[in-house]
Amino acid sequence: MEWRVGDVRIVKVVEFESAVDLSTLFPLFEPSTAKRHPWLWPDFIDEDGLGRMSVHALVVDTGERRIMVDTCIGAHRENLIVPPLDEAFLDHLAAAGYSIDVIDTVLCTHLHFDHVGWNTRLVDGAWVPTFPRARYLIGRRDWEHWRNAAHDPGICNIAETVRPVVEAGLVDLVDTTHQVCPEVRLVPTPGHTPGHVSVVVESRGERAVITGDLAHHPVQYGEPDLGMYADHEASVAASTRRSFLSERAQDGALVIGTHFATPTAGVVRAEGTSFRFDT
Ligand SMILES: [Zn+2]
Repeated sequence: MEWRVGDVRIVKVVEFESAVDLSTLFPLFEPSTAKRHPWLWPDFIDEDGLGRMSVHALVVDTGERRIMVDTCIGAHRENLIVPPLDEAFLDHLAAAGYSIDVIDTVLCTHLHFDHVGWNTRLVDGAWVPTFPRARYLIGRRDWEHWRNAAHDPGICNIAETVRPVVEAGLVDLVDTTHQVCPEVRLVPTPGHTPGHVSVVVESRGERAVITGDLAHHPVQYGEPDLGMYADHEASVAASTRRSFLSERAQDGALVIGTHFATPTAGVVRAEGTSFRFDT
């Protein structure tokens, strides 16, 4: 899947897709919650009532720069979502037209394990940078929060995924309003993690926003207060979500979800006190 934003191409590279019981992600979710939002069917909730989810990276190709936004779970990782994955993701990346060596920037919206996985790969028993020619843009705020955290495969595995690229000298610590290049900038969207960012892409008067995990599933557009179990500060995450959705309903930007199943992108429409996702 890919989208055009002015002169910029954005390509989705899938690592893993699944259907999950949404109450495992959102502790306050009930089936009646989703039924208030029939537009969620069939793309985002299947006939069994399970939420369709995706783990994917987005390559933002400006012509000059090839920026990978979020790097999925990675191969040979211990995690709570799926059994250890193989290196098929790199084949998907190549099939999309990008070799490891042409990615010049890796950008992580936050440092949870499913956004930093392919920062590194296992070679002869050691975790080494997957993209040796890239600069890795790591949020200073999240790095400060987790740099000494214990290994927790369900949340954060920084020693395997971030520390090796820091030690290789490939990391630039960035602030939450960092301008990556003329077409790409970060905006702070805190709550899920302290330094969580979303990524704005602008070209020729068009705008797209890659959400990161400010929402995990479009049901959170219909129910902006629905918190996710791993939210660092649920109330901050909810108010971030509400402001983000109001802004997108006003500016009409293309919104590309980081865990949204195909069709993944759409526009936000205000609907009473909540929102819907039109794809
Ligand atoms: Zn995530």
